[in-house]
Amino acid sequence: MIAALKNNKSVNPLSVTAKKPDLNLLNEKYKKLSPVERIKEIYNDFDNILLSSSFGTTAVFQLYLFHKAEVNQPVHFIDTTYHFEETLKYRDELTKLFDLEVINIMPDKKDNKYSLEAELWRYDPDECCSINKVKPFEKVKAEFDLWVSGLMSWQSSHRENLNIFEEKNGLIKFYPILDVTEEEAQRIIEENKLPIHPLKPLGYESIGCKHCTLKGKKRKGRWAQTVKTECGLHL
Ligand code: SF4
Repeated sequence: MIAALKNNKSVNPLSVTAKKPDLNLLNEKYKKLSPVERIKEIYNDFDNILLSSSFGTTAVFQLYLFHKAEVNQPVHFIDTTYHFEETLKYRDELTKLFDLEVINIMPDKKDNKYSLEAELWRYDPDECCSINKVKPFEKVKAEFDLWVSGLMSWQSSHRENLNIFEEKNGLIKFYPILDVTEEEAQRIIEENKLPIHPLKPLGYESIGCKHCTLKGKKRKGRWAQTVKTECGLHL
């Protein structure tokens, strides 16, 4: 299931008999590494790795780092059926650029139809996210030991309190770019002339489903008329 540490003999967060790795030791070890070093090293420490991407405004940065690390990692994308056309085109553009294998995760057809006909996002966005994002992804997550996600500390108050490794409901989450600043990510995107999401220049700094995304700084445009700040995947 989880590979023993192969390269670092001085730090061994995973004892032979332990069922779970020691996240404190893993955090201590990975804090000292650059994002690309973290991405390379994770394949020495774990076998069964899930990478997800929203193909939003910061997605290109993490995908570029995986490309630089030269690892062959499929990318899971949750297709709620409510994405902007621009996001789907951007997904296809980055797929071509980085030669990605993208796996689209779809919601249950009947539930998705119900959410559409009821326009559920208008009065029960938690249930809508549960049907179209959380439940379909739960099934996929169950097959993996580790979930890599591109959350960054500066994006929200919830995210600024995370560690590089966290455990949620038995699954270990790994955030290799958590401590990269917005400016640093932007600098790398510009220096490498990476394509940006077409809605970003129009004022959308965070992009999810079209029904729940407005223009706005950071994540201010997400579920803007409600108290909701996260879809539930990361809570
Ligand atoms: S972000 Fe909005 S439209 Fe998308 S699944 Fe959640 S509530 Fe539904």
